[in-house]
Amino acid sequence: SANTLEVRGLTVHYRTLFATIKAVNKVSFDVPKGSIVGLIGESGSGKSTLAQSLVLPKPPMHIVDGSAVLNGDIDLVKIGPALRRKILLKKVSIIPQYVLDALPVIRKLRVFLHDLAVEKDVDPKELEKIFVERLNMMNLPEKVLDMYPLELSGGMRQRVAIAIATLFNPSLLIADEPTSALDVVSQRYVLELLKDLRDSGIVESILIISHDISSIRQIADRIVVMYGGKIVEEGPIDEIISNPLHPYTKMLIKAIPPKGVHYTTTRLEGVKGVPPNLAAPLPGCVFHPRCPYAVKRCFTDEPPVVTLANGRRVSCWLYYEVRKE
Ligand code: ATP
Ligand code: SF4
Ligand code: MG
Repeated sequence: SANTLEVRGLTVHYRTLFATIKAVNKVSFDVPKGSIVGLIGESGSGKSTLAQSLVLPKPPMHIVDGSAVLNGDIDLVKIGPALRRKILLKKVSIIPQYVLDALPVIRKLRVFLHDLAVEKDVDPKELEKIFVERLNMMNLPEKVLDMYPLELSGGMRQRVAIAIATLFNPSLLIADEPTSALDVVSQRYVLELLKDLRDSGIVESILIISHDISSIRQIADRIVVMYGGKIVEEGPIDEIISNPLHPYTKMLIKAIPPKGVHYTTTRLEGVKGVPPNLAAPLPGCVFHPRCPYAVKRCFTDEPPVVTLANGRRVSCWLYYEVRKE
């Protein structure tokens, strides 16, 4: 397969006592071999749900439909717990949004690594050696081995999580908002590190999640834009930034501050309006309440996905019309 990951029609709900939240709705996209794909969208658009459903779906999360095939043969959303345990870290790894979720709390890293080696049935000495190699690569001192993750700074903790997630050279690394809690210097460092891991072949491909296109621009090849649990636009990052097609993406790109302007000192305008209620989705296009271009059919009919030149896809009635003419 030319793709590390092929997601098709993935639909994920949370079933709670009070509501069914349709967090991910018929999502399809590829992570091509050797690529870094950015998954972009505002808070609550379903990014983390999508990521977690690939790695460790657990109640109240339910996968309702679809598939997510890794390396052309393993469907990540259908495998049982035994196979899942076997491939986690080895074939697919996640650095979760709350990075401490991936790190030991009451064990020193040396002890954690030893237990992990036993669990994964590899030589503990060998695994520690690989971990030390990763520490060197990430500019972290070896004494980290005898520390608790809580003793580390945010930037160091993020790097340790990356070191652990890549110990077994997984095909796919998923990094959920790996830079959002870091200062600008650490952000840049972590992004370069992820790129180095891909360039050196330690990981084959990366799916990096962010609410901010400009922050992942330096490393992503392609982006997938999510809105209200759906993919609204997908394609090569430079083309999308220079010529966004979907009205939501247009608004996102407009909100990027000009080069040299600092995030911390400039308030981002963001996209005006209220996010959709995923417990009671409206008919028609998911973006219609906030869309300045909405026409009548946008209120009643879901727009189809239109495939354009250069591997671009967009889900909006405007382009359906253009293609027909
Ligand atoms: P953020 O940028 O804030 O991390 P996100 O794009 O990662 O947002 P998700 O965390 O995937 O968004 O949430 C998608 C939707 O699912 C939201 O409406 C959220 O409230 C809901 N949700 C997330 N986790 C649960 C849960 N455990 N139970 C019920 N609903 C949930
Ligand atoms: Fe706007 Fe209609 Fe396109 Fe949706 S389908 S983004 S409402 S123009
Ligand atoms: Mg999230």
